[in-house]
Amino acid sequence: MAVKEYDLIVVGAGTAGIIAAARIAEAGINPTTGDKLRIGLIDAGAQLFEGERRAGYGHPNRRRLMPQISWEEFEMIDSFSWGFGPKMVGGSSVWWGGHAVLPVDLDYENWSSEMGIDWTRENMKEAVDDVVEMYHFHAAPEEAWSKGDKLFRSAAIDMGYDAKGMPSPRKNCIFCGFIGSGHGCKYDAKGTSLWYLPIAEANGVELIDKAEVEQVIIEKRGAGGFVKGVYYRKDGQIQEARAEKIVMSCGYAGTPVVLAKSGYGPRDELGSQLIVENNNVGRNLDGDTTYRIGVVFDEAIKEAGRGTTGSMYFLDEDPDYQDGSGVLKIWSTDLDKITYPHTAALSEFAPAFGHAHMDFMRTAISRLGTIGVSVNRPPTHIKGRLNLQTGARTYPGDPYIDRRMNEAREIALELAKRIGSQEISPRFPATFRGRGGGHTNGTCRAGSDRRNSVINQNFESHEVEGLFVVDAGSYPRAGIYSGFYAALMGAFGARRIVANNFSRGA
Ligand SMILES: Cc1cc2nc3c(=O)[nH]c(=O)nc-3n(C[C@H](O)[C@H](O)[C@H](O)COP(=O)(O)OP(=O)(O)OC[C@H]3O[C@@H](n4cnc5c(N)ncnc54)[C@H](O)[C@@H]3O)c2cc1C
Repeated sequence: MAVKEYDLIVVGAGTAGIIAAARIAEAGINPTTGDKLRIGLIDAGAQLFEGERRAGYGHPNRRRLMPQISWEEFEMIDSFSWGFGPKMVGGSSVWWGGHAVLPVDLDYENWSSEMGIDWTRENMKEAVDDVVEMYHFHAAPEEAWSKGDKLFRSAAIDMGYDAKGMPSPRKNCIFCGFIGSGHGCKYDAKGTSLWYLPIAEANGVELIDKAEVEQVIIEKRGAGGFVKGVYYRKDGQIQEARAEKIVMSCGYAGTPVVLAKSGYGPRDELGSQLIVENNNVGRNLDGDTTYRIGVVFDEAIKEAGRGTTGSMYFLDEDPDYQDGSGVLKIWSTDLDKITYPHTAALSEFAPAFGHAHMDFMRTAISRLGTIGVSVNRPPTHIKGRLNLQTGARTYPGDPYIDRRMNEAREIALELAKRIGSQEISPRFPATFRGRGGGHTNGTCRAGSDRRNSVINQNFESHEVEGLFVVDAGSYPRAGIYSGFYAALMGAFGARRIVANNFSRGA
């Protein structure tokens, strides 16, 4: 089997990986010869959207890629059960809800002050602008707001909160009021990193799909090491690709799992498999804690042909913390768009069976709603960790999160009453052990000190030369939602990697 040779291999063509590959290919050169770079972009999942991708027009496969049957059709059942985001080219961006709040001053301050890295607003501005422009982030126009959105907003303002529309990535969106998180937009009006793929392709990036990287080849040198390439499984066979630079972008769980298999990680977990030690691989898992409180109304609060999906939201800060810890987010999820019928049929408000169920279902999709509550940026000392074999996350219970979630519940209940909900879900967990709901980060976090981080401010491993991480695992502290931040890491990481490795004089 011929071994492929590249200047750079990007592992994971998901949210951050595609952006990193595209921007490095566009701006990077071989520092010695000045030639364009040979870049391989390897993803475990399939490329289902070949050919022209037009936002608002979609792709024939996109319209089929919804129910389980189409996963069978595309022979992607393994991908469907992928524990931490879909295994496909485009990654979680193909599937995400598109709710996004851009980094705020506190994020930049925390990244600099807690971790000693120069990720300032000024230094990251170009990358932020890149993602905002390419994904086309903006709040939905007022004409698209549902009645539920308007009711939520005015009740929140009455309660003294600054409620506003959440930015969401849209191009040519018809605001049909049907598309929710996890179901994708059949016309690709909802932004994905696939919009960067033509830039990668035009600059010669070779995409290798359905190729799961098993291992990064790391050779030991002193206390550290350097990379030589990767082994990946394609068509049932192990193949090798070589490069002196490897950018990992398999997601907050996928990257630590591959690094551990490669012998890079905590000594106590890797044992005799250890090649290079770093005790933070797979640790420092951060994220938000989320729950949805069901509400139901006598009258329709949403209609077909209108709806935002970005929803309305407001924040409630914890007066005990001056650094932005413990911020609550309350948002009008599912007051902003029609409820899917299969969700309505299983709703906690739905009668069990018979005519009562049928009567309920006549109008349920326009009367049901949920109010989302979450705790973001919990205090910094409380972190979870990954199982480095499976990628499963464990997170210690935390009375602080329980207290804040219960405060969030009280705010949401008061809001629901003011909006005029006839019934409010009685279910609410007493304790919240899980954390992250897809909005996870930190497992290969950046920092100036190798004792509490994996990569430096230039996204390169502290110990393994030529190894970079740019996915959601790379940023140290949870912002409000992770999707924008993951894309930002791809865009910012690419710029740093080019400046330090792939430009004249680098
Ligand atoms: C259903 C869902 C809804 C979400 N909704 C929101 C939302 O509304 N707002 C928000 O901000 N965030 C949301 N998120 C989270 C957000 O999408 C993610 O945080 C972000 O996209 C992660 O980007 P990433 O680049 O780190 O990983 P991903 O985009 O998941 O990319 C990882 C890529 O690596 C590939 N891969 C993994 N392992 C290997 C391997 N061994 N070899 C080769 N390739 C590999 C995968 O196939 C995938 O393409 C949601 C996530 C999901 C799943």
